[in-house]
Order: sequence, then C-alpha cells, then structure tokens
Amino acid sequence: MTTLHDMSVAQLAQALQTKQVSAVEVATAFLARTGGNPHNAFLDIDSEVTLAQAQASDARIAAGTAGALEGVPIAHKDVFVTRDFATTAGSKILSGYRSPFDATVVQKLGASELGGAGMVSLGKVNCDEFAMGSANENSAYGAVTNPWDTSRVPGGSSGGSAAAVAARLAPAATGTDTGGSIRQPASFCGITGIKPTYGRASRYGMIAYASSLDQAGPMARTAEDCALLLSAMCGADLDRDSTSLDVPAENFSAKLGDSLAGLRIGIPKEFFGEGLAADVRTAIDAALKTLEAEGAKLVPITLPRTELAIPVYYIIAPAEASSNLSRFDGVKFGHRAKDYTDLVSMYKKTRAEGFGEEVKRRIMTGAYVLSHGYYDAYYLQAQKIRRMIADDFQRAFAECDVIAGPVAPTVAWKLGNNASDPLADYLADIFTLPASLAGLPGMSVPVGFGEGKMPVGMQLIGNYLSEARLLNVAHQYQLATDHHLQKPEGI
Ligand code: GLN
Repeated sequence: MTTLHDMSVAQLAQALQTKQVSAVEVATAFLARTGGNPHNAFLDIDSEVTLAQAQASDARIAAGTAGALEGVPIAHKDVFVTRDFATTAGSKILSGYRSPFDATVVQKLGASELGGAGMVSLGKVNCDEFAMGSANENSAYGAVTNPWDTSRVPGGSSGGSAAAVAARLAPAATGTDTGGSIRQPASFCGITGIKPTYGRASRYGMIAYASSLDQAGPMARTAEDCALLLSAMCGADLDRDSTSLDVPAENFSAKLGDSLAGLRIGIPKEFFGEGLAADVRTAIDAALKTLEAEGAKLVPITLPRTELAIPVYYIIAPAEASSNLSRFDGVKFGHRAKDYTDLVSMYKKTRAEGFGEEVKRRIMTGAYVLSHGYYDAYYLQAQKIRRMIADDFQRAFAECDVIAGPVAPTVAWKLGNNASDPLADYLADIFTLPASLAGLPGMSVPVGFGEGKMPVGMQLIGNYLSEARLLNVAHQYQLATDHHLQKPEGI
C-alpha cells in the first residue's frame, strides 16, 4: 500500500471502506505530519478532537453506516466556522473565537449521523485575514510558506489549504474563492482546486468577505478527488443562505470518464497578452496541445473587458466587505479593546487594534465608494461593468464549451516581494477575477513547472452549473499527464 500521506482522497476512502486501514490509523499518521506546524499552514490543531472523530468514523464503518468519504481527513480554511476548533478568519479581531455551530459545508463533509460524508477534521488552516489577499501574507498569524520553495508565497487567500495539501499534511482541504482564492493558491502550490458556480455551495457559516462573490470549493491533488469532495459540499440550503441555488446536489464523478472528442475550448486572447510570463505561457501552451491530442478543438475567443475586472472587483469587493465587517465591533464576537471611555471609543479602539492593515484599507475603500456622491461614480459604474463582463462570457460560450487560460500571470513570487505595493497583488488577480464577477465555475489544474521549478496552473472556466464538465476535462488531462503527481522535494 502507498504511504498513507501520499494517498489520494479516493484511495483513502477505498482503503478505509475495505478496512485495510482504520480511520484512527489514518488520522494518527496525518497528525504526526502536522505536529510542529510545517509551513505555518495550520491555525488550530487538536489531536483529541481529530482522534475522537476518527473513532466515530471507525464505529460507523464497523456498523455499516459509513458516509461516502468516511474517515478520510480534511483541513478546513479558517473562514468556515467550526464548533470543535477555534475560528479566526486569520484575524486578531476573532482571536479565541469559537462558533456554537458548524458551517454547512463543514457539516456536509463531516460526521455522517448529520447526513455528512464522514470526513475527519485535522483542524483549521491559515488564510489571509478575512480572505483578503493573494499571497497569504495578510494573516494576523504570520505568512504561510510555499512547500515547493519556502522563500516564496503559497498564494492566497486559501494559502494554508494549498500548502497543507501540497506538503501532504492533509489529503484535501476546503477553500473559499471570492476573486481567485481557490484557483490561485492551487496553481502556486501545484494542486487541483475548483470554485463552483456562485450559489452551489452554501455560504452559511462561511465568514463573509464579499457576499455576492464568496463561494466555497475543494482543494485536493486530483480532479477525481475534487469531484468526490464537491459532490459532498454542494446542494441547496434555501432556509439558511438567501443566495443558495435551488439545484440539487450532483454526482460530479459521473462524467469524469467522458471523451474530450469534439470539445470546443475557447482561448481568450486577452489572457495571453503582454503581462503573461513566458514560463507560464509555455506550460499552458503545452497543456493545450495535450487537450488537442485528446480530441478537443481550440477556438479563439475574446473577453474584451478582462482588464476592467480589476477596478470593478476592487470596488465591489471592498464595498461589500465594509458592510460585512461592521459586525466586528467588540460587542458580539472576539476581541474587545481594554481601555476605552465610551461606546464609540470602544468601537474605534477595538477595530483599530483588531484589524490588520489590508482589511482597514479595504474597509476605507469600500466606505468611500459607497458614500454619497461617489456611489454613482464608482459603485454603480462597477456594477454595470460587472454585468457587461458576465454578458461577454455568454457571447463566448456561444462559440465554445469551456474556456482555458492561465490562472495567474506568473508563478509564486518571493515572500515580501509586494510588501510595499498592495496594488501589485491586486493586478496579479487579473485572470481569476472575471469568472468570479460573472459567478461562473472555475478551476485550476497543474500543468507543469516554470521559473525556479515552481508549479504552473491552467485555469478552466465553464458556463453556469458546468462543474462536471470542468472536472471531466481536468481528469482526462490528468490521465494523460503526471504534473499533479509531482511533489515538492523532501516531502
Ligand atoms: N486576491 C483577491 C482579494 O484579495 C481574492 C481573494 C479571494 O478570493 N478571497 O480580494
């Protein structure tokens, strides 16, 4: 049998169901790896909780009541609230916070007596504060390092999730994607991740950043694993999430084996322009050739408002964040300043102490673009262009079935590189933001290595509710290549 930490979710599920290994043995093996917290990937680990969950899984396997992924470990991004582990969203303002309930996604993946898949939680993984960032350098609990080169960022905001999976600290992790936070860290760490259509996975219990964009999704090493995880995560949650789509859960594994013959892959010219680094381009071009060899046809398309996605997103997301983050006032959750004179001074001091620099920057930007006199000039304009971006995609999907291109313009950069220039991080989001603004599903698939032997990810974007198609393309690609099986040196 392959070493436990090298096994995929699918392999672990199989080994557990056929009792080749127990959930406690698997959990113990992973806990041994997360001890010492390599890459600063975890924010909360509690071996007693994990082992108790594993024992419960073993009991269900013995009783024949196991869930689909019973006993397979998973790590949760720290923006999902959890009852059994602390939840901070990477912020000091929530330090020590413990939720009285589990987020829907956590519940659906967890203990099967609650109707879940039966996965065992290894704890909570690091992320940018309130998921604001592209490098995981905005966490109040320190940056995460990239397992392929520890002098580089893992991407963000789900950097802890990506690093944990790449370093074999967990076979899979949850992530959230508002403007690229599943796809970009997956790309930077050489793993596979998918953000489903907006509304497919419940946002209940996912700490809100920008509610019209936030979406949960799985991060794992293979498309096959992502399909298993996504099948467990999705489904209508109409009573608890007002933007949940009223579409039933789907078995995303069902179409993985479909042939790619005749598939029309749209290649947006705006994704292959000047800003794209040559090493990334070379890897993407080679991947497209592989897909052509599988029978797909490349169709040139245009997404003319790609560049506008940056200013549009960086108006809308901070606007929503400034509203969402008003709930952190020192009264209801987490941190409260010690010295204050009256209520207003308590609010001010609490927020000044609790929020990091980037979060404050976004709250200020958001409050500004929503304020009287600027609302029409910025926020309203941004909303109009957002609609045009979504329409551009619909025109493109008249000519193609899926869209392919890079996830990010470069491979992972060095830690501290953009420390004095927050705009540099914003610009690097150019290829992930359009699909987020349109609410479309998107994924990242490892397609090789670029500068410094760093992983490169290819992005696949599909039309609404076409996750199964994206996973099918990614899976067929992974059957023909082995980039997703490579691992960082020494791991
Ligand atoms: N980098 C983008 C931002 O900072 C996206 C983050 C995300 O998807 N959560 O807002």
